[in-house]
Amino acid sequence: MTLATKIIRTSLIVQLLLCGLLTFGQNATMPSSIHQSVQSHTDAIFDSLVKIRRDFHVNPEVSGKEKRTSEKIAAYLLALGLEVKTGVGGYGVVGILNTGRAGKRIAWRADIDAMPSDIPDVVDFSSKNKGVRHICGHDVHTTIGMGIANVLASQKEKLEGTIYFVFQPAEEMNKGAKAMIADGLFNLIKPDEIYGLHISPYPVGTIATKSANVYTHFTIVEIAYKTSNNPDALVDFTKKMMMSAQTYGPNAKFWDNNNLFSPELGVTNPNTIYKDYTALMSDFYIKKSSDTLKIRVVLNASTKERLDAFLALIKSNIETSKYSKELLSVRFNFQKGLPVMETPMNDEELTNKTTKSISSIYGKQGVIPLYGVPPFQFSDDFAYFQKSVPGVYYFLGGSNPEKGIVAMPHTPNFEVDEECIKTGVNYFSSMIIERLND
Ligand SMILES: [Zn+2]
Ligand SMILES: [Zn+2]
Repeated sequence: MTLATKIIRTSLIVQLLLCGLLTFGQNATMPSSIHQSVQSHTDAIFDSLVKIRRDFHVNPEVSGKEKRTSEKIAAYLLALGLEVKTGVGGYGVVGILNTGRAGKRIAWRADIDAMPSDIPDVVDFSSKNKGVRHICGHDVHTTIGMGIANVLASQKEKLEGTIYFVFQPAEEMNKGAKAMIADGLFNLIKPDEIYGLHISPYPVGTIATKSANVYTHFTIVEIAYKTSNNPDALVDFTKKMMMSAQTYGPNAKFWDNNNLFSPELGVTNPNTIYKDYTALMSDFYIKKSSDTLKIRVVLNASTKERLDAFLALIKSNIETSKYSKELLSVRFNFQKGLPVMETPMNDEELTNKTTKSISSIYGKQGVIPLYGVPPFQFSDDFAYFQKSVPGVYYFLGGSNPEKGIVAMPHTPNFEVDEECIKTGVNYFSSMIIERLND
């Protein structure tokens, strides 16, 4: 998960701890025998997975430097009997589990990098690498990917088709997915579908997702004018015009982050206030030079259509105003050298099918449908894989209020309940089996 602007305070999600979501847990209904085998195998390897996760946590490596991490992954996959390719787009590792029988080809992606961070860790197995910390949970993602590979390798004789494991470096720089693709990932593997997850503040024992975008669409808008003899009036006009083009006025509940996960207004409610909006998410930044006046602001929108419509609207508002002659340009995502960060876009049919199969095996309470996207500037370069291959990106719950654990990535007290490793390995091993059988 890449966060474009600022670190979010843990307090923003305190509401989650108070809401009704927290009673969810794994509650298996009557799984068929292969899913029972999945669960017994996961139970059998769980302690070893916790050890692996803690080893990654103690030895975190920043984007582009994941040498040790990738060596550990490759050795593990080789020991499971998978075909392994290393050095794909940097320290990317690809594991191929070929059942030897024709069938579907399903890919699972895990990001593996840590982040620069001097914030002291809250666990007693903290980082040995000064200034580097797994504060986004990719150590957990990596471990779950390895766990799924282990479980599915143990069921290989009962499966048809091929499962690919894509261990991606440099997610935090928004570079690793593109680097793997540029290095020929999709010549090496030919997945029909691709899946992946990110740790999230939802309760342990749950996953959450939605079809289409899982994060907000965001951009930096820049409006450039010719220098005017009354720049203050021009700035004033532009600010007021853009503010009033937003969906919500200044006093709306939308702006109170405590509502993000509330059962009535938050993203888990079908009528959430975070379903349909365009919102300015930063102060206006004004830059005056001898010949131009530039006004910049961060814009978030719940959908791509809303983003495009907003940009068209403000352009037209200026063009039909008395300032039309002074307008030079309306631009967005204009910074050279900065990556355009995008949200994963989930395939609707696969979102429906996979969440249904997981709930039918593990119980409805384990799957939280989402109906909106919080107005933060989060992104994940999993989005680039989905441009070539349809797939789904899930949030995996990692919080446990009874233990005081709040799994909000990039926050100082970020911590996960390691039981979520079990949830991830069980749910997604079973999901992949169901996809192979579909
Ligand atoms: Zn992150
Ligand atoms: Zn992340």
